[in-house]
Order: sequence, then C-alpha cells, then structure tokens
Amino acid sequence: MAQDCIFCNIVSGDIPSTKVYEDDDFLVFKDINPAAPVHLLAIPKRHIARLSEARPEDAGILGRLMLTVGAVAREQSLDAYRLIINDGAGAGQTVFHLHAHILAGRQLSEKLI
Ligand code: AMP
Ligand code: ZN
Repeated sequence: MAQDCIFCNIVSGDIPSTKVYEDDDFLVFKDINPAAPVHLLAIPKRHIARLSEARPEDAGILGRLMLTVGAVAREQSLDAYRLIINDGAGAGQTVFHLHAHILAGRQLSEKLI
C-alpha cells in the first residue's frame, strides 16, 4: 500500500467510495466526477502506479482485471461500454494507481479523443 495514494486509501476504507464489486484482488467503484451516466473505476488492490510499470509477473493480475471488467459489465447489464486506461500525466492520468475507466449509459462518440 502506498500511504499517500488515494486509491490505496479507498481499498483500505480510509477514504469512502461507492463500491460496485469487490473481491480479494480487485475493487470496482463509482468515479466521483462521472464523465458519463455510468462511470466506474476498476482497480487492482495492489498498488501498481501505471500500466507501463506493470511487469511480466503482473500478467495474471492484468488479465484478471480485464475479466473483472467484463463480469461487472454483465452484472450491471451494460450492453456497451468503453474502457480507458490513462498511462501517464500527458494522457490525463491524475491518480497514479492503475485504474480502468468503464464508461457507459449513453451513446459514446466514435472519436476516441
Ligand atoms: P485519471 O485521470 O485517469 O487518473 O482518473 C482518475 C479518476 O479518479 C478521475 O476520473 C477522478 O474523478 C477519479 N477520482 C479521484 N478521486 C476519487 C475518489 N475519491 N473517489 C472516486 N473517484 C475518484
Ligand atoms: Zn495505490
């Protein structure tokens, strides 16, 4: 756990969140500042600062993160959603604990940026 990391503090319960899914390794919760009617953040509980810091030994956690997203989307009856990972400040990353944005609930633009 990184002491000064917002999402580590959400995992520990020191910062409140609206949880949608939780198991031993992953947490999915509502984004505090939603960019779409449904805006969830899926994170590994273990602190990985950003995608490009993941290592080959993290392959399992990355793969299971994707499976968790798919399972939560099914559970939440999302028939379409966009998954975004910002990797680095230049891509808009502000919280340096790996997270995938799940955006849904409206027609999303075909444009990515
Ligand atoms: P990014 O810009 O990709 O790093 O995304 C960080 C996201 O975390 C933003 O969409 C924020 O709205 C969201 N966020 C920041 N603090 C919290 C919090 N305490 N609870 C839920 N979402 C948060
Ligand atoms: Zn963290």
